[in-house]
Amino acid sequence: MKINDKSNYQIYTPSNTRYNNLKYNRCGKSGVLLPSISLGLWHNFGKYDMLANAEAILRTAFDNGITHFDLANNYGPPYGSAEINFGILYQQNFKAYRDELFIATKAGYDMWTGPYGNYGSRKHLMASINQSLQRMNLDYVDLFYHHRPDPETPLEETAVALRDIVLQGKALYIGLSNYKAPQIEEMTMLLKEMKVPFIIDQARYSMLDRSIENDILPCLIKQNIGCIAFSPLAQGMLTDKYINGVPSNSRAAKNKTYLDSKTVQEKLPIIRELHNIAQKRGQKLHEMAISWLLFQKGITSVLIGASSPNQLIENLKASENTIFSIEELNSINKLTK
Ligand code: NDP
Repeated sequence: MKINDKSNYQIYTPSNTRYNNLKYNRCGKSGVLLPSISLGLWHNFGKYDMLANAEAILRTAFDNGITHFDLANNYGPPYGSAEINFGILYQQNFKAYRDELFIATKAGYDMWTGPYGNYGSRKHLMASINQSLQRMNLDYVDLFYHHRPDPETPLEETAVALRDIVLQGKALYIGLSNYKAPQIEEMTMLLKEMKVPFIIDQARYSMLDRSIENDILPCLIKQNIGCIAFSPLAQGMLTDKYINGVPSNSRAAKNKTYLDSKTVQEKLPIIRELHNIAQKRGQKLHEMAISWLLFQKGITSVLIGASSPNQLIENLKASENTIFSIEELNSINKLTK
């Protein structure tokens, strides 16, 4: 019997050429290789987003060699919904390719109400990893992060909980995010003593926010810990989309996001100058912003977001030109350092 379904929905078969173009970098001194560009699911994968678009972005990513998907318990909105959607799409598209994927999630920001819903207690971390695995329909994640430091829980408690999550087989590797350099040093010591595979730090890094260059990046290089740079486009500001105003479908124009048009306006003069430098290099601003990060010492992977498959493809072009002349670097430094 023929059915009259006009969707033209195709069962997914990944591209045979998926490993032909992207570079894979060793994460610190670990055995893990991560793609130089990875995909984050903070935005565009929640309950208010279109599942078909989310599926197309994930398929495009994997087809182009992006093996690393980054989630967190509270990605959505609402919190948890990005993991739920990822779980659905994983079952329908990627289950057969589980061993080709490196999936991360995190816990530490506010997730549920009451005294155990955030930060770094053993109680929070154990509950949260169980919830995440259930939402994503996975037996284990490849990487589990403590999402932010906890000013009150002793680091030892957090470190032991992270160790136990690995020992229970719920995560293969451990990462930290948003920690300051001295806290990273201390955690490195604690985790090393217990032989916990702590391999990566996730930190905000872009041409508009270079603060990790002061101490975090040198500390990670010294400790042989990988670094994955989040918000490399400063949430979309390092593109040409805001140069002539705030488009209605952009992150800065939407509710339920963490970028407002006032911030965009403040940064516009620098954005315009950077746009000119990119043009002279024969690149778009978003390409240059990612290329520049790929050029930095100590960066294992650049963790991008995308609201469409096309943006993702555009961003992957960054890896075609990652060499900067001294003059180009000086002009960028003058504007951003
Ligand atoms: P980016 O800085 O890459 O911003 C992504 C956004 O920029 C897109 O959603 C899109 O927004 C816009 N954009 C992307 N490519 C283009 C393009 N080629 N042309 C025009 N606009 C473009 O990263 P995110 O801020 O999304 O962060 C990436 C990931 O980092 C997150 O998903 C998450 O995994 C991680 N992260 C971790 C944090 C932590 O505390 N550890 C905190 C924040 C992020 P638009 O909707 O306007 O199209």
